Amino acid sequence: MSDRKFIFNPGPAMLPLEVLERAQTEMVNYKGSGMSILETSHRHKNFEEIILGAEALLKELLNVPENYRVLFIGMGATGQFDMVPMNYLVDGKIANYIVTGSFANKAYKEGVKVGPTHVAASTADTGHNSIPSKDQIKLSENPAYVHITSNNTIFGTQWKEFYSFGDVPQVADMSSDILSKKIDVSKFALIYAGAQKNLGPAGVAVVIIRNDMIEKSNQKLPVMLKYDTYAKNNSLYNTPPSFTVYMIKLVLDWVKGLGGLDVLEKMNEKKAAVIYDAIDNSNGFYKGHAQKEFRSLMNITYKLPNEDLDKQFVAEAGEIGLAGLKGHREVGGVRASVYNAMPIQGCEKLAKFMADFRKKNS
Ligand code: PMP
Repeated sequence: MSDRKFIFNPGPAMLPLEVLERAQTEMVNYKGSGMSILETSHRHKNFEEIILGAEALLKELLNVPENYRVLFIGMGATGQFDMVPMNYLVDGKIANYIVTGSFANKAYKEGVKVGPTHVAASTADTGHNSIPSKDQIKLSENPAYVHITSNNTIFGTQWKEFYSFGDVPQVADMSSDILSKKIDVSKFALIYAGAQKNLGPAGVAVVIIRNDMIEKSNQKLPVMLKYDTYAKNNSLYNTPPSFTVYMIKLVLDWVKGLGGLDVLEKMNEKKAAVIYDAIDNSNGFYKGHAQKEFRSLMNITYKLPNEDLDKQFVAEAGEIGLAGLKGHREVGGVRASVYNAMPIQGCEKLAKFMADFRKKNS
């Protein structure tokens, strides 16, 4: 489809064309059932196959150990900012947060409403352009959990290595880099991610949770806020956002078809390098926000020499089909979000535009 743009939106983000086309083909009459998935009961075997299939495929792709479940929960990733402390910030324990950006801070602020909290490390002093080293992280006594944000969507930094904190459950918001590379799930007690970047459309948080954490769900909570409600009912206690789950299943099929995370990881490294090279070879015209060693492979943030040029850059890029490049207001400048579905051709076109724009305007 020649009129499709390269979509650099941070989320909802670009989806693979093949996935959109498959959804289109299956839309009106899903597998000969005479109805679309939008019209299918969430108790129908066709939907059950989709939701259990999505769980199984995510486990396969991420190499999730046996003692974890995958849950599909409404309210996006922000809902998890609440559910995590409500379930685990109990018994006089202290929730530990590592604040590396805006969403990490939002998660922390929700924790504060629920119980005692502690900032175990923060990168606020340097404009969130780095990730703390292990020895910069100081946990409190009696920690309930440590919460990290694996990729900072707004500032464009990413954890390159995950630490372990002994028996302290590590919880990670992986909204903006889940499924972009291989990870060792066993380092985490709970991983959550809003779907609208690497997994599918908005509206669902995918939660990968260890069995002991399911058992530890706070039983005093209302039914929709407890993790065990979702685990015991295969995320079908109530009507889930079924179309979103279906789209996630299609995206997972696409990832498997490409060859899985080994292949995607290499593609993502190559794609990001094309744009970071354009920054580094610009004689300082483009200035990256993140310190080099913490650069995100998903969200590439940079500034031009002044705000007028930032605006002109985004507008002119939009005219040639490079959409969604405006930086977030907290950082300014440009942000190129290059999740799994962005083809390398999109990155190359952006890099060429960056070189041309620089020549014309420096
Ligand atoms: N965490 C991160 C890292 C994000 O990037 C976002 C959304 N951009 C959120 C949380 C919030 O997600 P949602 O809008 O699904 O609640």
